[in-house]
Amino acid sequence: MNRTFFPMNRVLLGPGPSNVHPKVLQALSKPALGHLDPQFIGLMDEIKVLLKYTFKTENEAALVLSGPGSLGMEACLLNLVEPGDKILVCVGGYFANRMTQIVEKIDGNLITLKETWGRAIDPNKLEDALKQNPDTKIVAFVHAETSTGALSDIKTLSEIAHKFGALSLADVVTSLGAVELRIDEWQIDAAYSCSQKGLACVAGMSPITFGPRAVEFIKKRNIPVQSWFNDLNLLLGYWNGPGKRIYHHTAPSNQFYGLHEALLLLKEEGIENSWKRHKENSIKLVSRLEEIGLEPLVPERERIPNLLTIKIPEGVDELKVRMDLLNKHNLEIGAGLGELAGKVWRIGLMGYNSNEKMINYCINALKDVLQ
Ligand SMILES: *Cc1c(COP(=O)(O)O)cnc(C)c1O
Repeated sequence: MNRTFFPMNRVLLGPGPSNVHPKVLQALSKPALGHLDPQFIGLMDEIKVLLKYTFKTENEAALVLSGPGSLGMEACLLNLVEPGDKILVCVGGYFANRMTQIVEKIDGNLITLKETWGRAIDPNKLEDALKQNPDTKIVAFVHAETSTGALSDIKTLSEIAHKFGALSLADVVTSLGAVELRIDEWQIDAAYSCSQKGLACVAGMSPITFGPRAVEFIKKRNIPVQSWFNDLNLLLGYWNGPGKRIYHHTAPSNQFYGLHEALLLLKEEGIENSWKRHKENSIKLVSRLEEIGLEPLVPERERIPNLLTIKIPEGVDELKVRMDLLNKHNLEIGAGLGELAGKVWRIGLMGYNSNEKMINYCINALKDVLQ
């Protein structure tokens, strides 16, 4: 208690956080700057440019919220849903379900489309649901549903939303940086992410972006956004104010250094190369797991490359396996969530951890513990 804290150097192969690149850890320990220091504003501008690269967007509204992915989720919904507005949420797992809980708290008129956990959202179901609810203002979905391991085709989902005159909102918390994502080309109107999953930085920052239609909607709302901290109109004054920036809150400068470095590493690799690396290592991991008798939950075409759910074999004490992995091998993998609790493990190979060495480490540890 009276000594400096030294955490163990765990191997983090769960659904996030994942191990952070040493260069990012170094960046975190640089001297603090004031949140309106011209040098810090310069850093924010650079982060914005790097974020646009990462999101594949030209959106002017590309910024970072000082909080985890759940803050991004709440902020997007608060800004895009006016009380009474009809919003359709595509639910195929735990995180989409969290969106519905937020919508209820902010008095949105919630419609849910239910998909089987472990499967991509079926676009035909969305089309049918919108035919029955043509007055829907916004359609929300999760790109990579981390609770189930299923990846949805959000390009098609967004197209269908637009066909019915609705805006699209995508959760790209796990996918950003690791899975192909093209905000502009796919015409996603708004999206939010986090720092500790696909971007493999430390937790606590939420990159978000809003397209022109979403920004226009927010500017013209009849009822002001019912949150001070999350009001995009105020946040843009801090992030985009021409010349002079308006104080909003004290941005965590050291965390921003880390995010800047993580985004820079991604750009140096080339984002397409990062997508490819995650995909290739996922394929290798699956075949190695199959060799030791473990099976993925999600059909091949619908799998998230950086987060794999595997079925727990009959008769295996899943908690004991995870505890043995942690205690004997210093290795963390994820448990199942919600409907899949006790049924699957979740293995993430994200960012710095998506490599052959980690695959070998994981397989050897699992082999040892499952014996
Ligand atoms: C982890 C996760 C969240 C929540 O992010 P936090 O950073 O834990 O708040 C939301 N959506 C998805 C798909 C996630 O995987």
